Amino acid sequence: MLVVEKKRRDFYSRFDFIDSILTYEDLDSAVTLLNSSDVIVPHGSLIEYLGIERASKLKSKSIFGTRNLFSWESDQKKKMSLLKMAGVKIPEQFEDPEDVDRRVIVKLPGAKGGKGYFVAESKGKVKEGLAEVMRKGLIKDPSEALIQEYVIGVPMYFQFFRSVVKDRIEITGIDVRYETNVDSLRRLVDPKGVEPSFVVVGNIPLVARESLLPNAFAYAESFVRVVDDLVRPKMIGPFCLETVVTDELDIVTFEFSGRIVAGTNLYIDGSPYSWLYWREPMSVGRRIARELREAKEKGKLEEVLT
Ligand code: ATP
Repeated sequence: MLVVEKKRRDFYSRFDFIDSILTYEDLDSAVTLLNSSDVIVPHGSLIEYLGIERASKLKSKSIFGTRNLFSWESDQKKKMSLLKMAGVKIPEQFEDPEDVDRRVIVKLPGAKGGKGYFVAESKGKVKEGLAEVMRKGLIKDPSEALIQEYVIGVPMYFQFFRSVVKDRIEITGIDVRYETNVDSLRRLVDPKGVEPSFVVVGNIPLVARESLLPNAFAYAESFVRVVDDLVRPKMIGPFCLETVVTDELDIVTFEFSGRIVAGTNLYIDGSPYSWLYWREPMSVGRRIARELREAKEKGKLEEVLT
């Protein structure tokens, strides 16, 4: 069953694997569409568009995932503090533009797909950029922006699945976001003077150099440990560590998603990694369905729904 805005119905009704489509005109009514027996698989829109307040009105025990993580995810600074507690390597952060002493990326709250982010080489440029985004009404106060060291390397988004039933963490895939215009700058002989922007238009599948994986798993385990301890009841299902990998092969995590995200399901038939666990086609959607079925069979449904 799919819940979508009315204007998107036509598009989704082209795909007959979707059993039924519920539509809404305004987000407040979206919350009331679901029954208590329906299970919601949360994704980015639940936080970015439905919003944390409406999401909290969803009937209890209806979410496959860690409901209490939403409030951490909706606040970029809180999000980074959770990663710090997990002991994973994160970029340096600057509370005050005055302290900026290197190249930074300035992130705006609630940015949908990186819109409005900018890169600055000095504290002067950070202040100028912040004044500009405030003039555009994108933020009201500079403190709303997250100023983070810009890590030189390549982006890698590690997708994991915490199985409560099997008591293990699986890697389900890796992706890279394809972003305009930053991913096209290499096509220019001299890109000087072109400001990079980070507007997501797609996702590209990736297989990692194998020696990166033990470290990626160690970070995933630490992340799960902290969520289990701090957020409660525990990390359930898919999550993503969004990283930049440097030429020292350091994995620097600049964000996480505690749920499915755009790059989670690039492989409808499963990924090169899911094959190692399943030897049958296993998309993340199917993996979730399998977890729910096994949880039900083992009387553990309560443990995977929050
Ligand atoms: P999400 O959709 O998951 O909320 P987003 O699209 O809002 O994410 P980010 O994923 O945080 O934005 O970042 C956008 C882009 O900026 C990505 O290309 C990412 O690789 C790059 N990026 C983010 N933080 C850093 C950093 N600290 N150093 C270098 N690049 C970064």
